[in-house]
Amino acid sequence: MRNAFKRYSIETRETPPKIKLPPKFLVKRYNNCMNIQECTVVCIYGVHRLNDDGTIAEPISELCRGCHLCVLACPKGAISVEINPEFLKLGNSYFTPDRMERIYFEAETGRVPVSGAGYGGLFAGRGFDSIWFDFSEIVRPTRDGIHGREYISTSIDIGRKLPYLKFDDNGALLSNIPKNIEVPIPMLLDAPCTVSKNLQLSVVKAAAKLDTFAIVRAEDFYEKLLSYTRWIIPRIKAEEIEKYTDLIDLSQIVEIDCHGGEDFKRLFEKVREINSSTLVSFRLPYNDKSATIAETLVDMRADIVHFYIDDKTVEQNPDYIVKAIRAIHLHLVDKGVRDQITFISSGGVAEASHIPKSILLGADAVAVGLAYHIALGCRVCYGENRLECLVEVGNGDVEWATQRIVNMMASWRDQLLEVLGGMGMREVRRLRGEVGRAMFYEELEAKVFGGDL
Ligand SMILES: [Zn+2]
Repeated sequence: MRNAFKRYSIETRETPPKIKLPPKFLVKRYNNCMNIQECTVVCIYGVHRLNDDGTIAEPISELCRGCHLCVLACPKGAISVEINPEFLKLGNSYFTPDRMERIYFEAETGRVPVSGAGYGGLFAGRGFDSIWFDFSEIVRPTRDGIHGREYISTSIDIGRKLPYLKFDDNGALLSNIPKNIEVPIPMLLDAPCTVSKNLQLSVVKAAAKLDTFAIVRAEDFYEKLLSYTRWIIPRIKAEEIEKYTDLIDLSQIVEIDCHGGEDFKRLFEKVREINSSTLVSFRLPYNDKSATIAETLVDMRADIVHFYIDDKTVEQNPDYIVKAIRAIHLHLVDKGVRDQITFISSGGVAEASHIPKSILLGADAVAVGLAYHIALGCRVCYGENRLECLVEVGNGDVEWATQRIVNMMASWRDQLLEVLGGMGMREVRRLRGEVGRAMFYEELEAKVFGGDL
């Protein structure tokens, strides 16, 4: 039991990127400019400024938000605002330039990005983008978690839960209550794709500051991480469990890296023999067998199942992750065992809204991967062009990298609070599997246009 109520808060600090993204807009002033200076008056973002001698300075494209007021205000038509072709080259069709820019803003400021002129994306996309939140409760402004008028909990419990409790005739509890670990956010940090000690340390320190967990490949563990084991889940290959008995002994949660054909029960017992109190998580790829594997894991009393899919596959087929999370959740609900296991999902998480979307589809928690790499400079290389990847965390950069990750996660938590507030929900635990709080494009389309025609 926790003895004192403590409101969870994340300390954010302005942390600019090392390498800026190319600006989205290019603002140009042509030589028919007559120094009329209307642009300096109308621009509220500071793109147009005066030099010390009173003449107009070169426009600062980085500050432009694309409102075009200066273009309209200039009587000479001497200004143009265009989308920067270099900006459009960023990322890919899933980790779009706009999403990357958002992550940069979140990682720099820790704040919620304000789109200003409304939602700028496509009306509906694929995968997570085909789901909308139902904010019908937005008329109740008291449920406002960010500004704290009413507390909204983003905590979840990791671990197995009993379907029911058994008591003896005198009312004494007979059941052994399995261990649960409460984390204040439904987000974990997955292992980084590039192996760099400083990057690994930054991720672990960020997890400690957020009071959540970082998943660390056992082979990447090194002595500086020892003081952070409280926030580390070692990820151990199924065939290497014996190699890491010390690490297993230190850990509250251990993740076993599996492919699907392993003898799960044997692996589970092996880990429990080394550390009888550690929670055991099975890391498995999402595939057609996921739902039945999850059921098997419930039957053998595993604590956690962590399904993952690589982001490249999600980019090619964004619908897959949506269907996969839902199928696993519903299968376990069908069997009446859903609450007995914690389901962590990884994959396709490119923006804050993908966290509540993963949860409403049926996951308990989400492990964040590529998004924090982008916050640190990765240009969506999928770990394939390691030599070209811009993620570089030098010895003096650990604090910088830690804070960028913490800022992004703080912003994502605030956005989660906004979603919960809009839905009138007081805790994220209730969001799990709650598709009634969402609208699915496919269903709406069928309803409106008659899908069976
Ligand atoms: Zn990269």
